[in-house]
Amino acid sequence: MRLNINDRTVEVLLSEETLRQRVAELGAQLSVDYAGKDLVMLVVLKGSMLFAADLCRHITAPLSMEFMGLSSYGDSTETSGEVQVTLDLTKPVKHRDVLIVEDIVDTGLTMRYLLKNLAAREPASLKVCTLLEKPERKRVEVPLDYVGFVIPDHFVIGYGLDLDQKFRNLPFIGRVV
Ligand code: 5GP
Repeated sequence: MRLNINDRTVEVLLSEETLRQRVAELGAQLSVDYAGKDLVMLVVLKGSMLFAADLCRHITAPLSMEFMGLSSYGDSTETSGEVQVTLDLTKPVKHRDVLIVEDIVDTGLTMRYLLKNLAAREPASLKVCTLLEKPERKRVEVPLDYVGFVIPDHFVIGYGLDLDQKFRNLPFIGRVV
């Protein structure tokens, strides 16, 4: 389906209902896997905020949330892998069960940086939950423990993901055509 939004044609790739169902499944799986653990959802801003807000409501295990802001140097559609922390955690995660909640793993460079940064803080466990994975663009191997959807090599927007800071509020994921 194609829609006209802000003078752009956007093709829907993952509908609101498709996202809702998969996020519920991930939440159910995480509820089992993190039962009895000390879960810290580490939400990577800004792109993961909608995903994290929906996901946390499907997790029955007790959890706390921390946020990390990252900016990567590079052009608007590709990261350089040089990452700067713009907002850091407010509490130590030492000996806690950290789950990184990310919107998309593209080249993997940002995730590689994050995993190294967080591992240095000595959590009890460190896992990754990403809504989207684009394997065709992978440049480095990173372990992805939970993946919502594997997608082809399109630049996608909506459900938290932006194009020049816009379109984050779309309830679906689409691509500008
Ligand atoms: P990576 O370091 O894996 O190449 O890229 C990770 C970051 O690049 C993501 O967290 C996201 O902010 C951005 N990114 C990668 N692919 C896309 C995309 O298709 N759409 C949008 N909006 N951002 C993307």
